[in-house]
Amino acid sequence: MNLRQITSTILLLVLTSTTASAQFSFGNYALQNVNIIDVNSNNVLYDYTILINNDKISDILPSKNYIANDTVQSIILKDKYVVPGLIDAHVHFATDPTEERRDNAEKVLKEMLLTGITSVRDMAGDARALASLSRNALVGDILAPNIYYSSLMAGSKFFADPRTIASAQGGISGKMPYMKAIDDNSNMVIEVAQAKGTGASGIKMYADLSNNEVVKIVEEAKRQNFPVWSHAALQIAKPSEIIASGVISISHANMLVYENDDSENLIKSWIDHKPNGKEKEFWDKEFEKMDFSELYNLMINHNVVLDATMSVLVMYKNHPKMIWRYEIGKRIIQQAHKKGVLIAAGSDSDQSTFVQHEMKLLVNECGFSPSEALVAATKYSAMATGILENEGTIEVGKKANLLLLNANPTENIEHIDDIFLVVKNGKLYNKK
Ligand SMILES: [Zn+2]
Repeated sequence: MNLRQITSTILLLVLTSTTASAQFSFGNYALQNVNIIDVNSNNVLYDYTILINNDKISDILPSKNYIANDTVQSIILKDKYVVPGLIDAHVHFATDPTEERRDNAEKVLKEMLLTGITSVRDMAGDARALASLSRNALVGDILAPNIYYSSLMAGSKFFADPRTIASAQGGISGKMPYMKAIDDNSNMVIEVAQAKGTGASGIKMYADLSNNEVVKIVEEAKRQNFPVWSHAALQIAKPSEIIASGVISISHANMLVYENDDSENLIKSWIDHKPNGKEKEFWDKEFEKMDFSELYNLMINHNVVLDATMSVLVMYKNHPKMIWRYEIGKRIIQQAHKKGVLIAAGSDSDQSTFVQHEMKLLVNECGFSPSEALVAATKYSAMATGILENEGTIEVGKKANLLLLNANPTENIEHIDDIFLVVKNGKLYNKK
């Protein structure tokens, strides 16, 4: 067989598998004649070849400089586009085992992988279940993205929340290594060490923590080289205090409102507001009353990524008492983005939508260009998770996590759904 024949045989193999979804591993192969969307430069590199060795990208070069040889399998991808595998910066797969069941998690994770999501960050749940899913995904026992998950820390008041009780079955909510009540007397060295020992990739600070407690958590976590993620407000600690503490990402754009000393009254007035047909004017005016510029500058100066979660805010659109979260939240996202705040794409919609939906909302509601939404869902989601060193861009030495598309998604964000192949940790997947 000549090279062209080998190539078409392999592609045929990939594309005509009789199983519900195919998984292939060549070890050493070349994605040839593909157009690379480079999220670092925002350029399209036309007709390039990406060499993959086991789970990593070993070389990237113009196809005219690549000399094919017998030891490397070739996959010809003329007119296809490749973007980094998508990363959802905010999912939940193991909150309540009666609702977020293992069989359902496996089903959704498989769907995610086959639509091009190669990594997810789970933002609090039962770490015993998440450790199992994460390992199964890694060794190939289940079809799923790479799963990074968190250990949760919050004030003791929070652990009456039924979600935390469900996630702590067999133990006591607030006293699990992955779900800890923190107060001024906590031994932070032990608390952080145990949180890390769960296999989590970071701490998530959730609620009811003072600035003093936030500072202590982040200081010790830094000492133990463990990233900290946080809600954008902790109902004692303010957004500015959290951002300045050294966390690497904050979640939920609408929560920046809590920086305002008068936020309680402000929110009450929004809840009391009766729609009068001039909604856009109303919300524009309310938004203009607040000045977030110092928070944006703080985020930029501290390299904090905003995990905006527009997918969850949009769910409040038809909810009279909660609509402010959507109206104010989307304006914050749009403005923060314009000012240069790095924004990650996290869905947080409890699996009802995937990160592609978040990308479309960023484009359709928050003024992002399609390529900016792509950067959010790849490079900045990797940065928010703390995995940019190995994922989130197409670069030599990084994990071979790639999404191959039939059309250019920077021309039209809908093309993100026009999937040809998915590569996760060097293995090839396709839906057919
Ligand atoms: Zn969440």
